[in-house]
Amino acid sequence: MVSGLRKAMMFDALPSGDVLCRVCARRCVIAPEEAGFCKTRKNAGGTLYALNYGYVSSEAIDPIEKNQLYHFLPGTATYSLGTFGCNFRCLYCQNHAVSMPSASVDKAMFTQVGLSRFGEIVMPEDVVQRALFLETKSVSFTYNEPAVWFEFIYDTAVLSKENGLFVVLVTNGYITSEALETLAPYIDAYRVDLKSFTDSFYSEICSAHSGPVLESILKAKEIGLHIEITALILPDRNDGEIEAETAAVWIVQNLGAETPVHLNAFLPNHKMENASPPSGALLKRLRSIYMNAGLDYVYIGNTLSEFQNTSCPDCGALLINRVYSFGESAPELERFGAAFKCGRCGRILPLICPNDIDF
Ligand code: SF4
Repeated sequence: MVSGLRKAMMFDALPSGDVLCRVCARRCVIAPEEAGFCKTRKNAGGTLYALNYGYVSSEAIDPIEKNQLYHFLPGTATYSLGTFGCNFRCLYCQNHAVSMPSASVDKAMFTQVGLSRFGEIVMPEDVVQRALFLETKSVSFTYNEPAVWFEFIYDTAVLSKENGLFVVLVTNGYITSEALETLAPYIDAYRVDLKSFTDSFYSEICSAHSGPVLESILKAKEIGLHIEITALILPDRNDGEIEAETAAVWIVQNLGAETPVHLNAFLPNHKMENASPPSGALLKRLRSIYMNAGLDYVYIGNTLSEFQNTSCPDCGALLINRVYSFGESAPELERFGAAFKCGRCGRILPLICPNDIDF
């Protein structure tokens, strides 16, 4: 195998010499010697190759809560990593240095923005070894869109499961149903952005569409993945009350009232560095709309407040504190077996947290 180059898993070779990539909803038809929209997949002689196999742009040991998973392995560390490239072009992208490198499509593009700090291509075995050595419970594919790293995350996820690690995708949700089904036996959690409930937002701000995102979330639910939804709130762009209510009702009806939702404050960045962040009052108003629509766990992110805590939806008892820590169980949280309940009123708290995790 040429360094970084791996034959893609999901493509059709067309009679014209073009190839059709089936990893994400863009379904790029790629001419010979050209790359797809994400710049990470290239048609070489009628075969599609992933150019970024094993190239790590960023990695860290993070509290899992930093990936905005609040009901999944709480209080544990995760091994987070990502590569280069993306299938969106969000105008506010916080990680644009790695998600949208502007160089040409070849190995040189990666050296221009910086290889892994290990100065090598990282193999799935390395990821699993590091995760185990550092005693994390999970591997999280994050920082850029994991789908554009499909072959690497597939191989790493398979190996992670064989070694008892949980696997997390932090994703924009543009993966195809076929690709998600292929990964499904080897992943556990789907932390997905629902950036807006309007297609115009997706097309104007992200160069994408909302329909495939909703489809992938429904597929993740059907597969049985743990789902948490995030929405970055941009004033005057996706903060309408009708939009909030429509999104909340859709989540309740399709994913269930206990689905955790994170409303995050937009932070000026990239091509929107002059836009204003939302006020605390706006975020609280939107949270009320989501909760009035029936959602039990709606958090506010990117700003320090008590709305990062988990409280019992029935009696209001504090169950998990995240204001001064990433995730700390409060005295009222009671464990019984692999489950948790509110010690004050007995309501079950939906947390994925096996017995061997001390929380
Ligand atoms: S993964 Fe990349 S090449 Fe494949 S369809 Fe998506 S944007 Fe196009």
